[in-house]
Amino acid sequence: MTEQQEKQPYRVLLFYKYVHIDNPEEFAAEHLAWCKENGLRGRVLIAKEGLNGTVSGTVAQTEAYMKQLTSDPRFSDVEFKIDPAEHHVFRKMFVRARKEIVTWRLEDDVDPSQVTGRHLKPKEWKEALERDDVIVIDGRNDYEYDIGHFKGALRPEVKTTKEFPEWVRQNLAEHKDKKILMYCTGGIRCEKFSGFMLQEGFQDVNQLEGGIIKYSKDPEVQGDLFEGKCYVFDERIAVPINQKEDKVIAHCHHCGKPEDRYVNCANPFCHLQHVCCEECEVTHRRSCSDECREHPANRYDLDNEILRKREEEYRLEKEQALHSEHSPS
Ligand SMILES: [Zn+2]
Ligand SMILES: [Zn+2]
Repeated sequence: MTEQQEKQPYRVLLFYKYVHIDNPEEFAAEHLAWCKENGLRGRVLIAKEGLNGTVSGTVAQTEAYMKQLTSDPRFSDVEFKIDPAEHHVFRKMFVRARKEIVTWRLEDDVDPSQVTGRHLKPKEWKEALERDDVIVIDGRNDYEYDIGHFKGALRPEVKTTKEFPEWVRQNLAEHKDKKILMYCTGGIRCEKFSGFMLQEGFQDVNQLEGGIIKYSKDPEVQGDLFEGKCYVFDERIAVPINQKEDKVIAHCHHCGKPEDRYVNCANPFCHLQHVCCEECEVTHRRSCSDECREHPANRYDLDNEILRKREEEYRLEKEQALHSEHSPS
């Protein structure tokens, strides 16, 4: 085992595939049982249209997961984005059957295997991004954009994916002949989003293949032109992307200094996600306002206790994982 693997003996996988699944409920139940038995944690959504997931586990567990999934001919060509991690980044394993693997609820649903924008490889994306006659759309939600995005990208005023069609119609209707570049975290949201834009009459719609995460790992571009961090939907909350330049673009909600860590307000009736530096987290008791700080239900102390216990659990798990993968079999 290399030194890097000892420090980060876990991995996080990010993957999706639009492919027909006959019986999502049955598939979900079987998949959940397999994941639990093999020690994986995370979230996998299954629908008739495909699968969308992110899981964490040790190197051996994630290897086994990839082998298991790709042994199914429907998923033989799934592309996995792989991130090393210090421990699990999820508390539990969820596998759920849904109507869609990303909730769009379009009036005219798009089948990305039939209609979708052109996929650009990281290098092609970077070249296109450097042109000045393109419109770059961040295909994620506003709070994701705020801690990191591609230089020059439009900030979509949306809180959920469902709000995109309205936003596009209100803001971009006059630009149907322009070259459109869109991106998201791992590529899945752009598959339908770009298809929607083609249906709306946009002529030249392009998407970043494999999203920000793959772009970050590309040996040639190394995340260049991405500013800030990438929001992720697990305990890490944000991951670094640009290997050439590490820039912090957001600011602490309280003191205004450059910062890109998100916390949730400790008042359970507020729960506002806000950017907060480590010092202000202590002085403001992880609250977005004085009112929330003084709220009788404030969970600051309670949550810190939970966090301490969780860290201890992770430490023990990691020791066990390292031990079992070292011992001769
Ligand atoms: Zn601060
Ligand atoms: Zn609050």
